[in-house]
Parts: sequence; structure tokens; C-alpha cells
Amino acid sequence: MIPFSPPRIDQKVIDEVTAALKSGWITTGPRTKLFEKKITEYCGCQTTVAVNSWTMGMQVLLNWWGIGEGDEVILPAYTYCASANVIVHSGATPVMVDINKEDFNISVEAIRKAITPRTKAIIAVDLAGFPCDYDQLNALVREEGIRSMFSANNEKQEQLDRILVISDAAHSFGATMNGKRSGSLTDISSFSFHAVKNLTTAEGGALCFNLPDNFDHNEIYTTFCTMILHGQNKDALAKTQKGNWRYDVEEPGFKCNMTDLQAAIGLVELERYQENLDRRKAIFEQYDAAFSIESWAITPLHTTNSKVTSYHLYQLRIAGITEEQRDAIMQLIFDQDVSVNVHFLPLPTLTAYKKRGYKMEDYPETWNKYHNEISLPVYFNLTDEQVRIVVGAVVNAVNLILG
Ligand SMILES: *Cc1c(COP(=O)(O)O)cnc(C)c1O
Repeated sequence: MIPFSPPRIDQKVIDEVTAALKSGWITTGPRTKLFEKKITEYCGCQTTVAVNSWTMGMQVLLNWWGIGEGDEVILPAYTYCASANVIVHSGATPVMVDINKEDFNISVEAIRKAITPRTKAIIAVDLAGFPCDYDQLNALVREEGIRSMFSANNEKQEQLDRILVISDAAHSFGATMNGKRSGSLTDISSFSFHAVKNLTTAEGGALCFNLPDNFDHNEIYTTFCTMILHGQNKDALAKTQKGNWRYDVEEPGFKCNMTDLQAAIGLVELERYQENLDRRKAIFEQYDAAFSIESWAITPLHTTNSKVTSYHLYQLRIAGITEEQRDAIMQLIFDQDVSVNVHFLPLPTLTAYKKRGYKMEDYPETWNKYHNEISLPVYFNLTDEQVRIVVGAVVNAVNLILG
């Protein structure tokens, strides 16, 4: 069986985690701090806070920004449930909009129509690793007409004086736009280092901050380190200094810090990340070449003059089929011992969001992309021979169904 996206765990990773275990420091400590510093350098952002998942990083972020009941947060209907779940938990209302025709990302024109005086933030998802239209999106929130509609609820929102633009960069670590890396393309970006993502720490995530100059990024870093550790103003490492045991809690915090065992994996992954990207790119090119000669294949847009993907997901689409035919094709691919996937079930198809009144028919482009989509395996250890097996399995399956 060719798996879909196994993590790259080899002796190098095992040695680094073993070294962390033997160091006597297994929770947040020197390796986490080093990992944060290296992500800041790599992404070119102002500061980075490592956390235990994308989801908890985003939850703390929405809380810090003062988002709650009565507020609206705009996001695409085409994303993983986590993007919307955090908004629900914050007490705010998720406002879903449709995606572009050309790619799988949120439509900036649809965002414009969805903005109201209650809009506090936009979560744009770099689907499959392809960056959203941040040039247009960052310009939109600064337009006079949009800006004058904005009403701040607190000091931080006043300081920004416009809608906050957040990147759901769960897929896009290493992607670039105008030569700048994901993590520095807008106000704040959130990465996921879950086991299936491009760069993994088993479970994990990071928030990268890039707010305007009137924000103090050192202060933001300190605030988040407190917020992700119960609100305690001294972490375990600081408390190991002689006599330095007393601490205070000014506000009840969350608990979602990254451990040094996770950071140990991340440091190895980051050090060899370019070779990971290079291999993924080569696999994308092989899929492009193989499917561009098939009349039924719609290959994904992943590179333009200004944008380069992180090659996270290869989202193949099959022209002229129904959702049922797509599912049947997937079954036939699995029967040939090849694992494939669908990214994603649109939010309005999930019971939790149907119950909340969202309707699939309101997002035609999302449905159009979803109903005939199949994601193919892409990972460092996938060999050229395996890529040929995947292509063969897909072609066989489609020919059987299309006849
Ligand atoms: C994986 C994923 C998340 C959630 O990441 P976790 O680290 O598992 O919390 C959020 N958004 C998207 C688009 C994802 O694919």
C-alpha cells in the first residue's frame, strides 16, 4: 500500500529527540526557543510563538484580539473544520464566503461583499500551500470605505484601526509570494505542524506576527508565552533559577505550549526543509506531466509569476463527473493499494455547520471544486516508481468509471 502522507521519521530525528530526552529538559525550554528563532529567520516575520497546534494558537490569538460575541470573522467555505471551529469557540460568528474560479482560495471580491461593521478579522486559507491574494486582501482592509466602517472594541483594535488579516498557513510553510515567505505575508499567520503537514513536530503549530510598526513585537511575544501557559508570568525554565519560585497570574490563561521533544523533531525538519520542498516540487512536476495529456484531468494551479506553492497537496480534479463517481474512482484507486484523499469536505456539508444554517448551494465555486477533487500522495520518501504507480492507478480507475 502506498500511504498518503507518512511523516519522515529516520535516525536523525530519533537521535535529536533522544538527545532532548537525555538533556533532562522535556517541556518548553531551549529547543523550543531555538525553533521559534529559526522560524522567525526563515519566514522573515517579526516574532514567532510555538504552540501545541494550529488550533490552540488560533484560539489564543482570537482571545487576545478580543474577538467574541457579536463579532464576525470571515473565512472560506472551502477549508478544514478547525478554521471555523475556533471562531465558534470564541463566541463570534463565522461568515463563510466562496472561493476563486482559478484556484482553491478565498475570493477577495466575495470578502468585500461580506464585510459589515461587525467584521473584526478575516482568516484566509492558503489551500494546498498556494498563497491567497494577499496584495488585494491587505489593500482591501486599508481602503477608506472599508476602514471607516470598522469599529474597534478595545485598545489593540484601535491601534490597528482596521480589520485584522490572519493567514491560515497550515499548508503553506515555505510558500512564497513576491519573493517573501508565508508567515510574513500579512498581519499574523498560523502554521500547523501536525503529522500530515509539510513540516511536522508530531503535533504542533506556530504563530508568526507581522503587525504594523506601532505594535511592540517583544511585548506580544512575552504576552503570548504567558497566555499559553495558564497566564503564569514565569515559565518552568525561569523558575529553575535559584530562589525564583514566586509567580503571579493576572488573567486566566490557556495551556498549549510546545514541548522540547516536539521542537527537537521540528529543528531537524526545518534544517532539511529545502530538500523536502525540492522533492515535493519534482513530484508535482511528474503529476503535471502525466495528467496534462489526459483530456479528463484538471491539474491544480500552484505557481504563478508572483506565487510559489509549498507543494503540500496535489489536488487533481476529474472533469465531467459527479460526486458519486468521484467516490467510486477513489475506491478503485484504493483497491490498487494507493491511498488518496479529499481536501476538504466543505464546511456547509458538515452537520455542525448545516445545523448552524450554512447551505452548500450558497457556495457554488466551492462545490464545483470539491465534488470532483482527489488529492494524491506527495511526500519526501515517495519514489519516482511510486509516482508512476499512483498515476497508473488513477488512470485505470477513471477509465473504468468513464468507460
Ligand atoms: C491541519 C489544518 C488545521 C489544523 O491544524 P492543527 O495543528 O491540527 O490544529 C487548520 N487549518 C487547515 C487548513 C488545516 O489543514
